[in-house]
Amino acid sequence: MSSDCLLLNFTYEPLGVVDVTRAVRLLFARKVEIVHAGAGEIRSVTAAFPLPSIVRLLYYVARRRKKVALTKKNVLLRDDYVCGYCASRGGATMTVDHVVPRSRGGRSAWENLVACCTACNARKRDRTPDEARMPLRRVPREPRFIPWIVVRRNTAPDEWDKYLALYSVGIEERVGR
Ligand SMILES: [Zn+2]
Repeated sequence: MSSDCLLLNFTYEPLGVVDVTRAVRLLFARKVEIVHAGAGEIRSVTAAFPLPSIVRLLYYVARRRKKVALTKKNVLLRDDYVCGYCASRGGATMTVDHVVPRSRGGRSAWENLVACCTACNARKRDRTPDEARMPLRRVPREPRFIPWIVVRRNTAPDEWDKYLALYSVGIEERVGR
């Protein structure tokens, strides 16, 4: 049983991930409707509902947009742990590379940081992609806030994709606008 529930705005825009207990409370308060039922059932004295996997608010909430903190982990999440140079996929060993090296005046900024595997990191050293002949496979950009970045995407149920995909499909696009 999944214990997380995707919360959508009235407009179907994803607002965040909530605990299923909270989703059920909203459901009983008639503040949300179920968009997608997960496995299992929840009962009150008078009613029974399927356990929700996706719920949608029955009213619109305006939300504040937060900036995504520039951290190593968030850069790796933005890039989905895929090396910006060779596209290999890494886990805990993945590093973050300054595209223009710091020694050459490269800033620590979203636009100058990419996920990088240890092999490419060792190969590139203190050179620019041009000098190292290691072209970037995508242009790094500052991500905008979406709930997705705080979710470990390999643990999210498939049915969430459709709604998260409203923000485009690939994670680099999803977080790259
Ligand atoms: Zn690599």
